[in-house]
Formats: sequence, C-alpha cells, structure tokens
Amino acid sequence: MNPTKPGNKQRTHSQEIFRRATDVLVGGVNSPVRAFRAVGGDPIVVDRAAGARLWDADENEYIDYVCSWGALILGHAHPKIVQAIADQARRGTSFGMPTELEVELATRIRKALPSCEKVRFVSSGTEATMSAVRLARAATNRDLIIKFDGCYHGHSDSFLSEAGSGLATLGIAACPGVPQALAELTLNAPYNDAPAVEKLFHQNPNKIAAIIVEPVAANMGLVPPAPGFLESLRELATRHGALLIFDEVITGFRVCYGGAQTLSGIRPDLTTLGKIIGAGLPVAAYGGRKDLMDQVAPLGPVYQAGTLSGNPLAMSAGVASLELLAAPGFYESLDARAKRLGDGIEAALRDTGALATAARVGSLLTLFFSPGAVSNYADAKKCDTKRFAAFFRAMLARGVFIAPSQFEAMFVSAAHSDVDIDSTIAAFRESLAAASE
Ligand code: PMP
Repeated sequence: MNPTKPGNKQRTHSQEIFRRATDVLVGGVNSPVRAFRAVGGDPIVVDRAAGARLWDADENEYIDYVCSWGALILGHAHPKIVQAIADQARRGTSFGMPTELEVELATRIRKALPSCEKVRFVSSGTEATMSAVRLARAATNRDLIIKFDGCYHGHSDSFLSEAGSGLATLGIAACPGVPQALAELTLNAPYNDAPAVEKLFHQNPNKIAAIIVEPVAANMGLVPPAPGFLESLRELATRHGALLIFDEVITGFRVCYGGAQTLSGIRPDLTTLGKIIGAGLPVAAYGGRKDLMDQVAPLGPVYQAGTLSGNPLAMSAGVASLELLAAPGFYESLDARAKRLGDGIEAALRDTGALATAARVGSLLTLFFSPGAVSNYADAKKCDTKRFAAFFRAMLARGVFIAPSQFEAMFVSAAHSDVDIDSTIAAFRESLAAASE
C-alpha cells in the first residue's frame, strides 16, 4: 500500500472496535487526546507497529510521528528492545525488590545528566513531577510553586492550571476537582517571560519552593526557550532560595543524549525524566542534587513509593535503549533526518504561502497555524485550530499520522528513513493546500 496515496482509508473495523470502546472506556480512550476530539472523526485503532510505521485494525499503514508521544526515539519494536524485554520476561516480570538492572539504568542516567547525582524510578511522568515538587516543598519548607502557562507536567493537582497538552486541546483552563486551596499554591507565569517570574518572587518573598519548567516547551506545540530565559530562571531561583526543576520528560535523551540541561549548560536542582528512558514501557524518574534526594524515604522523611517502580521489564528496555542512543553519531544522524523534514516543511510553506510557522528543536517539530512565531501559550492559543484539524485529516488520509492536536509536537525517530521523510513532505504540501481550501 502506498502510504501517501489519499483515499485508501476504509476504517470500518476500527470504527466498530471504537464503538465498543465508547461503551466500556471513558470516551473510548485511556488518555484524552487520543479521542481525536479536536480534529474530528474516530481515532486510529492500532493493530501493530514496526519502525516508523503503524497499522490500524483495517490494515491501513501510517508513517507515525507520534511515536508513543515521544517515547520511541528508536521507532516501534526495535529488535534489540524487543529482545531485552523478552529475555527479561522469561526471568520474571516484577519482583518488587532491588535488581542490578535499576543500578545500571540509574548509572547511565547520571553519566548523561550529571545534575542527577541520585535517581528514583517511578512509573509515569506524573509521578515524577509530583514527587519532585513534594521534595522541593519539603527541602525549602515553602509551599508555593511557579509553573508556566502552556507547560504540562502530568495530571497531578498542582499542575492543571493553564496546562498545555490535552487541557489545551480540550480548552480546560482549570480542572474541577482540584481544591481551590491547592490551586492557589501554584503561581503561573507566561513562558519566556523572566520579568514575570521575578515579579512573583517579589510578591511572595520566601514562599516559593520551586520553579518547574519544560526547558524546551513541547506541550503547547513546540516552543523553544528564548535566549537567556533559562539562565534567568536559574539565577532567580538561586537568588530567592527556591529550587529549579527541569521537567525533561520529553526533552531528556531527545534534544541530545544529556537532555536540554546539557544543550543549555544549565544545571537544575532536580530533573524529571520519562518516555525515552523506558523505550515505550511505563517508567519515569526524578533525580537531582544528592543533598536533596537523600531527603526521600528511606533516607529521609519525604515519602514516595511504588509497587512497580524500577520494574525489570522497563529497566531492561531502558538500558538497551540508552546503549543504542549512546552510540557515536546517533543524535547527529537523527537531527539530520529531522532537519530534512524541517527544511521540506519550510519550503512547502514558502511555496504554498500558507499562514503557518514551523518550529523545530532537533527531532521535535510543530507546524503552528499562526502567521508569526509562537513564543508562549497566548501565541499558541491564537492558532487557527480549525485549519489545523483540516490539515491533520488531510495528512491522515495520505497515510501520515501526526498528533491529533495543534498543541503537541511531532517526534522524528531513528527509524524514519529519508524515503519516509520525503513522502511526508509531499503529504505536507498537499495537506497544506487542502487545509487552505
Ligand atoms: N511532563 C511532561 C513534559 C510531559 O510531556 C508529560 C506527558 N506528556 C508528563 C510530564 C507526564 O507524563 P505521564 O503522561 O507519563 O504521566
């Protein structure tokens, strides 16, 4: 099947499965953006995947730029990852006790991100950020945190104000069920606006425990940090006795092996990781300064635990993955692939005169349906989401699957070939035209 050929997308079996799904699962899904609410139509129901390709329940083939929301930097079902998981599964799937594998993965993480002097594994990015904030509050004996509009840090109560990702997709500014008293402990600032952060510190002296930030924002679409922004956050946090938390759940091992902190040369006090470190299995981590991490139980009183934390299947997948990512030239070749796509998109935008702007950092990309650059959530929200929806549908009909929301990034993996990239660019050209009609 030619993946870029439009009109070959009969999805009757998928639709029948999704109809059953809506009966037993909330909205037919287990995470909201998957429901395609912002783009219309029924979601893809996935049957299987390999490399850069997905097949749905009707055997339609797609080039996948969601890649499990960034977890699969090596593409789907990489033989070495599958082998590592299968080998471990035969030795046991979960022990609830220490293993050498978790020492191995933590050691590799610390080598890549030296700010993570000690690491604790958890099972989701949500747990990692929630635990990092608890630790920051305990260590500073302060309650307030600063987060940025349009940044997403998982779905725990403190992070749902003006959050990006699914909340942006569904237009949820504040989430019911979050107690007002708790919501008031989160202070919001616009991304890329250090003076706004400074103002919050002056308005709340000695009360702010931490600044949490995506060092390259990827949950309002892709928004790079402005020059000097992260440096200012580091300086402000230090000056005011607060901690700086880099949420690198997306950027860790993505923008380069050592994450955005290595790229920017800024050392956060705490870091959260997820996605890539588990190669598609449920694992995440938080880590940071030894004196802080040593306050976590059992060494200290800051309690945090997990039945499946350090799960051996996930650890073995993570170790196998980081070994491949550490190979010389891995990121250079990934970035070259992504640049080919970025350049192709830029050329398509110039040629079609579409009112859209592309943003790219390494293998992360977003096409914003905005005439100008997007540097914060207010800009992102001005995008023409109806046009994005038309564009998304046109891409899907041509066999290219991008995230079903304007407020997400595309993820290029090492499994995307030049041929995949070139057919994606062709689909972009046609879809931009279709979305302009
Ligand atoms: N932080 C960031 C930056 C994320 O992108 C995400 C999820 N996309 C999370 C935290 C939450 O991770 P999880 O979905 O694993 O809970």
